Amino acid sequence: MHVHFGGAARVPNPRVLAALLAFAVALPATPAGAVPTDPVAPSDRATREPGNGPERNEVAATDPLLTAGAMARTQGHNQPTKTAGYPKQTKLRVYPEDPTDRAIKLGLVPYHGIAPALNDLQARSDRVSVEVAGQSTLGRDLYLVTVTAPEHVSETRRQDRWRQLIEDDPRAAARDRQLRDGYKTPVWFNGNIHGDEWEGTDGALRVITQLATATDTATRRLLERSRLYFTVTNNPDGRVAGTRVNGAGFDINRDHITSSQPESRAVRDVLIATQPVLMLDEHGYTGTTLIEPSTAPHGQNYDYDLYIRHAYPNALGMEAAIAALGHPETARANIPFRDDAPGDWDDWPPIFTPMYSMYHGAVGHTVEVPMQVNRGSYNSLPVEELRRRSGINTDVAAATIRAAIGYADSHRAALLADQIELFRRGWAGEAQRYIPDGYVPGFGPEDRYTTQFPRAYVIPAGDGQRSPAAAARLVDHLVAHDVRVRRAKAPFKLAGHWYPTGSYVVDMHQPKRGLANAVLEAGRDISALVPQMYDISGWSHGLLWGATVHTSRRESPRVPTTPVAVASPTGGVLAPYGRDLALTVDDGKDVQAVNALLDAGVALRRQDDGTIVVPASARRSASEVAERLGVRFTAARWPARGEALTKPVLAAAVAADELFVLRDLGFDVRPVSTAVLNAGYDLSDVDTLFVSSGLSYAGLNAAAKSQVDALLARGGVVTRGATGARFNADAGVLPARAVAGRSDANGVVSVTGGGGPVGTGALPHSFVYAPLWFTDLGAGVTADQRYAATPLVAGHWIADPDDGTGGPTDASGQAAVVSGVGPRGTAAVLFGTEPLFRAHPKGLFAQVGRAIFWTATHNPPVT
Ligand SMILES: [Zn+2]
Repeated sequence: MHVHFGGAARVPNPRVLAALLAFAVALPATPAGAVPTDPVAPSDRATREPGNGPERNEVAATDPLLTAGAMARTQGHNQPTKTAGYPKQTKLRVYPEDPTDRAIKLGLVPYHGIAPALNDLQARSDRVSVEVAGQSTLGRDLYLVTVTAPEHVSETRRQDRWRQLIEDDPRAAARDRQLRDGYKTPVWFNGNIHGDEWEGTDGALRVITQLATATDTATRRLLERSRLYFTVTNNPDGRVAGTRVNGAGFDINRDHITSSQPESRAVRDVLIATQPVLMLDEHGYTGTTLIEPSTAPHGQNYDYDLYIRHAYPNALGMEAAIAALGHPETARANIPFRDDAPGDWDDWPPIFTPMYSMYHGAVGHTVEVPMQVNRGSYNSLPVEELRRRSGINTDVAAATIRAAIGYADSHRAALLADQIELFRRGWAGEAQRYIPDGYVPGFGPEDRYTTQFPRAYVIPAGDGQRSPAAAARLVDHLVAHDVRVRRAKAPFKLAGHWYPTGSYVVDMHQPKRGLANAVLEAGRDISALVPQMYDISGWSHGLLWGATVHTSRRESPRVPTTPVAVASPTGGVLAPYGRDLALTVDDGKDVQAVNALLDAGVALRRQDDGTIVVPASARRSASEVAERLGVRFTAARWPARGEALTKPVLAAAVAADELFVLRDLGFDVRPVSTAVLNAGYDLSDVDTLFVSSGLSYAGLNAAAKSQVDALLARGGVVTRGATGARFNADAGVLPARAVAGRSDANGVVSVTGGGGPVGTGALPHSFVYAPLWFTDLGAGVTADQRYAATPLVAGHWIADPDDGTGGPTDASGQAAVVSGVGPRGTAAVLFGTEPLFRAHPKGLFAQVGRAIFWTATHNPPVT
């Protein structure tokens, strides 16, 4: 659908929006007592903020406060009281009261109030079960509440068998009348994934309480034929702190395909274990309640017919439910599929909970409750007004949950049949269906996205595999996401290649083939299809996670295989005793291995080609690291040379995802920023300064500048993005001119070159967001990587529509990563790509590790 409805003005262009927001920020604060009306357009799009474009470069990450984890560990254990059948109850540990919990001001339940409320409900009702689905980054429990009629253990086992049958043998499930009549409809509600969008939690608790305590026949019958699952807060750290992100600074609702965070892994596991036919992800605040389905582009791996025929009427039902609340603010909803233009609010990337859930058989919806209470509003509005708004929002959350329960119950046969059909098509390898115009009102050609699934993917073993450790990581990731992977028991030939025994096969005739393809395929260049995208439009574990992955378009694998529950071990020391060992730093695992050996006190050397040499005497340490991380040591060339490598100490003005990855790689990282340095931070033991966010050389005071200058004279610099390039220019580190591409451009790119300290051995693909390239390279600066002639493989990257600049054509052949030793004697690497973005492109992490090891070992020439 591509017609704007005439109600609230919408601002589709994020750059226009950014300008409006900047204007709004510049406005004077609201006088006390005044109740401003929400500026509808900015709050509207602001809530699904990209958060990772250029603005990501502005505020440097700081260390998370680890108090919650420490506190939780002192609070004893969650006690399961009954584990077979339902209820499946847990006496939850109770957290101490936290008067600073940001929910309190809004009159909403603070995190510490949730466990007592759930313990009380479990005591009062045999319809309520609570399990702990995991812990947040800072150690808070994530609660899974199940509301259903009590079940004998045999009934629970039968439900489990049926759920498994639906996925494993959907044709049998479709024929099973007992299943059809007796299977309890699973529905899942996820609340508060964005910590400062609170009311999904409160709405869920209200519905749970009503269902638990209602005495009417309709409720009793509903619960006899339903399993209603609630992850009441997916982001307790953010709920308490009043932040969108989790305790590590990650947006969990961008992490599902990557699952780098415990909060996203926990709901992934809930999703796979419960297999809901329908799910809601409750958010805020869009001025008008927003209810998906989304605009185009629609993810090309969906069986969209099975989705939209439920998502659209369910959205209409939720709209009617909020209208019936009687609040003037909830008279109607904004349904992007119906009301907005393509690209405004899409379901393309499976980084969002509902989009990810669709691949597991759920009809997924984002719901945005309307009334802004976070950020500026939280601080500026009177408490009564905030609570009035939160009251409306809670009403909306509860009403949408109730409406969705009603839809799932009244359409249970069709929803179940369509989930079964989704998995059946996968097993059968059938093509996606052609969806005619008007299939649901407004469905048109702009909504039609399909793909041709390949017949199989192979992740080779043996010499054809670039990185066995990366291959194992990818296999484990696929398995954790319920993609079926098998291991070949014999050598085989497929699509012209011979593969050795032990190679992994992803036969695309499988129930969740859409997810398998979304992970492994390159993706698609959708630049010409929509004017802009809201968030990322490219990702690819197949191209960016460091493993060699082959595609067989048509030929089916014919080889005996066994199912894989966990990838085979890959580590080893492949060298004669008594020889020095060599480690090629091709993957983040290798970087971890180097740092682990340095931590163990092993005397390492770095050769000019980036290879790390381990003395023969440290073979035992190397073996331990190889086994733990899956990396491989080989015999070092003799005689082994190279510079001594000591553990690099980093000062890092970086975004939160980068801080997370740098720490995960084992580096000693000290978060800094302009403000931290100006406050007198001591850089004297720092080897390399990493700059991508929140550090301006021009903004340093004299003392801080002299500290940085001293570091530049003896150490190294790594930069990423526009903030890093600005630092490079202001500090005169490397003579190279940075050119910025379009700020919302993002995706998987092809790169060429592969030289220098970073590029050697690098993947032929990289990732960009707000891509940057370098021209006018001065003396001593070389391009480690260049953008290919046609850079964009998958994603969205167009030139500025006004002046035609900043597009992929301008970047063609330009330097994407440069390195060199500048006039101040500083060894420096400048990234125009995004090697650490949201901890996703794991095959690129080694580039950063190599950059750091090189800058830290480079000895400036004595002058
Ligand atoms: Zn949100």
